[in-house]
Amino acid sequence: MRSMAAKIVQIPVSLNIEEVKSKLRVVDWQQIQNLLEVANPLISAQAVYDVCYMNEKFEDGVIIDGIRFSSQVLRRNLDRVGKVFPYVVTIGERLEERAGECADLLEQYYLDNIGNIALIKARKHLEDHLRSTFALDCLSYMSPGSLADWPLEEQRPLFSLLKGAEESIGVRLTENLLMIPRKSVSGIFFPTEVTFYSCQLCPRERCEGRKAAYDEGLAKQYGTLK
Ligand code: SF4
Repeated sequence: MRSMAAKIVQIPVSLNIEEVKSKLRVVDWQQIQNLLEVANPLISAQAVYDVCYMNEKFEDGVIIDGIRFSSQVLRRNLDRVGKVFPYVVTIGERLEERAGECADLLEQYYLDNIGNIALIKARKHLEDHLRSTFALDCLSYMSPGSLADWPLEEQRPLFSLLKGAEESIGVRLTENLLMIPRKSVSGIFFPTEVTFYSCQLCPRERCEGRKAAYDEGLAKQYGTLK
């Protein structure tokens, strides 16, 4: 049984040059400063989340509030968890539209990346909000599509679990499982003792989004590497 309705969080996100420095390969920093002045007013970050409860656990999946998810990794991560927080975060569509209007491809690339950085910052804000609201020391998250073990198709049950993402913050799921606005991320936050990153189980090389090194031993423990 749910204890509360989905919650909307308005997230103030404004990037400064220091926050993008380590994440962009740039020749002309004055150009980035100018682009940040264009981008910041176009960022409209918000999140919706819910508090949901585990019903059942199987070898290769779980049922959360009556919705079935299939993933060995998620199952293992939720082994000792009773309460989870499905979420969607977006920065809206205005920055994406502005990037699409750019004739200059480099400028378009920078605006696109500034959007990605803003989106990750917005998700971190939601994480901090959940941690303080629910007095949790450590939270981790998983997103459908980040691992072969939890494919993009699992966006459907996620959006069924977190009803009303479109009505509340304007994010909808297309038939092709893309979120509109594109600058949106979704997933499930869950309490952990040690931070879990899907990247630890992902062998992909040269990924700019990597947050932790690939760990073969851990991949064997989780069963994603035989
Ligand atoms: S390494 Fe890259 S592709 Fe793999 S899970 Fe991390 S961010 Fe995703």
